[in-house]
Amino acid sequence: MTDSAEKMRERECSHCGETKLAECFYREARASSGLSAICRSCNKDRRRGAHTKGNGGYGFPEQRRARERLRDAVRYGKIAKPSLCQRCGVETPKHLLDGHHSNYAKPLDVEWLCRSCHGVETFAEKRHG
Ligand SMILES: [Zn+2]
Ligand SMILES: [Zn+2]
Repeated sequence: MTDSAEKMRERECSHCGETKLAECFYREARASSGLSAICRSCNKDRRRGAHTKGNGGYGFPEQRRARERLRDAVRYGKIAKPSLCQRCGVETPKHLLDGHHSNYAKPLDVEWLCRSCHGVETFAEKRHG
């Protein structure tokens, strides 16, 4: 076995920086090396982190689904974003307007809020529990 063949069996994890055996990485067809850039244990950590944090508001499936539905509706022109915040009425660039759901069962029924109004809204919700 040559040195280079030996080297091929190890790679550096781009997340923890440790050099690990190739079998410590998931296969990833898209990657040029055919392996994921992140080792299995980091992969697991990242996934677990995403689930337990929940502070981005993505911990609840119906909320995520509602946001995805809304995003698609905007993309396909079913819903037009306003150019004003519907709460404070301040003119806001569209990419900074967030659709605020009062009811996730109605994903297209939203109030368009600027970042500061939406921030206040989510903060208030959290305080109320
Ligand atoms: Zn790692
Ligand atoms: Zn506002």
